[in-house]
Amino acid sequence: MGRLSIVATPIGNLEDITLRALRTLKECDVIYAEDTRVISKLLARYEIKKPLQRLDAATEGQKAEEVLARLEAGEHVAFVSDAGTPCISDPGARLVAHIRTNIPEATVETIPGASALTAALSIAGIDATEFTFLGFLPHKKGRQTALKKIAASEIPVVLYESPHRILKLLKELETFAPKCRVTVARELTKVHEEVQTGAPAELAQSLQKRDAVRGEFVVIIEP
Ligand code: SAM
Repeated sequence: MGRLSIVATPIGNLEDITLRALRTLKECDVIYAEDTRVISKLLARYEIKKPLQRLDAATEGQKAEEVLARLEAGEHVAFVSDAGTPCISDPGARLVAHIRTNIPEATVETIPGASALTAALSIAGIDATEFTFLGFLPHKKGRQTALKKIAASEIPVVLYESPHRILKLLKELETFAPKCRVTVARELTKVHEEVQTGAPAELAQSLQKRDAVRGEFVVIIEP
C-alpha cells in the first residue's frame, strides 16, 4: 500500500521549507499540486524534477480517485497547495478524507511547515493561548453575521484577506467593532514584510494613503 505525504511549502520566502519536505518531494513518485506552475518555481530552486499533476478545489473529487488508485498500486504521492500548509484555507481536506475513508491501510503523513496563520501570530505580540481562526470571511451571505461574531468574541480572531478586500474589511470592522485592536500582517517572510497595529479606522487611513494596496494579509482582531 502506498503513501500520501501532505507537504507544507513556503508562504513567500523559498528558504522556508523543511529538509524533510525537500527529501519527500525528491523521493516521491508524483507530486499533485494546486497549481503546477506555482510549485514549479519551488522545484526549480531546489533542482527537483518530478511528474506533476494538478489537484485544485474544482478537481479535488475526481483527482482523489486517481490518487487512491496510485496508492493502491503502492506509489508514494505528495500533495502541495500554492503556499503554506495544505487544507488551511486551501484544498487537500477532501483528498485526505477520501483516502482515509476508502483505504485506511494507506499511510497519510504530514510534512509540516509554514502557515501564514502561525507566522502572523508569532510576530503579532498578542497572547495567542486561545484564538479563533475564521479563514476568509464569506463575501456576501453570512458576512454580517461573521462580523458580529468577531465583534462579540472574547478571544482573538484571525482572518485571511486579499489585497482587493482588505480596505473593505477594515471599514467594516470600523463599523462593527470600532474599539477593537487590529493587527495586520502583510507580505510575511518577503522583502516587504510589515506588521501594523491600531484601531480599524487608523489602519484603514494608513492603507488609503498608499498608491496601491499590494500583498497578502493576515488580520488579527483582539477584543
Ligand atoms: N494554506 C495557506 C497557509 O497555510 O497559510 C493559506 C492559503 S490561503 C489561499 C492564502 C491567504 O493566506 C492569503 O490571502 C493571505 O490572507 C494569507 N497569506 C498567505 N501568504 C501570506 C503572506 N506571505 N503574508 C501574509 N498573508 C499571507
